[in-house]
Amino acid sequence: PADVVPQAPEDPLFGLMRAYKADQSKDKIDLGIGAYRDNNAKPWVLPVVRKADDIIHNDPNLDHEYLPIAGLASFTSKAREIFLGAASPALKDERVTSVQTISGTGAVHLGALFLAKFYKGNRTIYFSNPTWANHKQIFDNVALPTATYPYFDKKTKGLDFEGMKKALQDAPERSIILLHACAHNPTGVDPTEAQWREIASIMRQKSHFPFFDSAYQGFASGDLERDAGAVRHFVEQGFELLVAQSFAKNFGLYGERAGCLHFVTAPGPSAKEDTARIASQLAILQRSEISNPPIYGARIVSTVLNDDKLFAEWRDNLREMSGRIKDMRQALRSKLEALGTPGTWNHITDQIGMFSFTGLSEQQVLKLRDEFHVYMTKNGRISMAGLNTSNVDYFAKAVDKVVRE
Ligand code: PMP
Repeated sequence: PADVVPQAPEDPLFGLMRAYKADQSKDKIDLGIGAYRDNNAKPWVLPVVRKADDIIHNDPNLDHEYLPIAGLASFTSKAREIFLGAASPALKDERVTSVQTISGTGAVHLGALFLAKFYKGNRTIYFSNPTWANHKQIFDNVALPTATYPYFDKKTKGLDFEGMKKALQDAPERSIILLHACAHNPTGVDPTEAQWREIASIMRQKSHFPFFDSAYQGFASGDLERDAGAVRHFVEQGFELLVAQSFAKNFGLYGERAGCLHFVTAPGPSAKEDTARIASQLAILQRSEISNPPIYGARIVSTVLNDDKLFAEWRDNLREMSGRIKDMRQALRSKLEALGTPGTWNHITDQIGMFSFTGLSEQQVLKLRDEFHVYMTKNGRISMAGLNTSNVDYFAKAVDKVVRE
């Protein structure tokens, strides 16, 4: 069949990475890929991960056997505690089921596959415009129809809350709504607490099904509780929902593919039994897709989450990453304002998490690449983690030049 397979386009993000690597300039800056870099532009192995690594390597009882189909239980049970809160009634009622997945991407995929097989409401899944570039192709792959709701307001570079609310109202009852739990990718724009409450209330009225994508808990604000606030509010409101949880960013375990998919059943007399049936079906899907998940990343996370001292140290590591990013937001904004760069720049510090939607046009982005060796996606998104005290000045000056041209 080889001759009937058409050439697919290269993934734009990975193409960008290749171009960056090939660039010989000493000034080059990578603001494309969504991975944390320290102030020397180097990947950062979290100190707490190094400690967990040592513990694992020195444990004579660990082997390389298969994990169970649903993964490492000491990992998945703590993973759900960190977004629900240990005292959550959902945990006490045993109405949460969890499956270890191939990081966040695998969790989104498994959730999508589950919905494609069992969801009986309006089977269209609505996601924000824009959203993480992979969402649409993941849902296309399981043949779930997709639609978008307005999200980013180009004028304010903030949330188009009225547009979003109207779309949620207008969507047929029992639609599936994909929500970013915090640190929206690619915009960095999150609803406020009050806005989340309104979103939940509309979704309640319309009996929509929330599917949370949580890729940045603790990485966004440095506070695990705060970054889980939206999901917790929905759970308190009694929704049944899915959460796709990634440990790539908040543990710096990108390549280890540690993640979970959680299904929270609504409270009620049959909730525990319903949850057990859902678990049995998720196990069958998992078995047919990957048999059982990879062990190493889950062991690292489990070692940290199950030890009070290491857990506290992880929180410090999270604050260090999120703090450095916040400092870079502040530095970039102040430099642009000091240069008098045309436009407003408050959105750089209003936005949160790994990314900022700068508002730069595609033409300006290409100029930054060709003339200044700065690599970012064509939609004007920058990864804040690519900035540091040595290059933020150069970047601000480059932006200033292309905006003025
Ligand atoms: N969802 C969102 C919104 C993301 O930004 C990411 C990471 N770029 C993911 C999911 C999944 O990442 P991973 O599979 O590496 O956990």
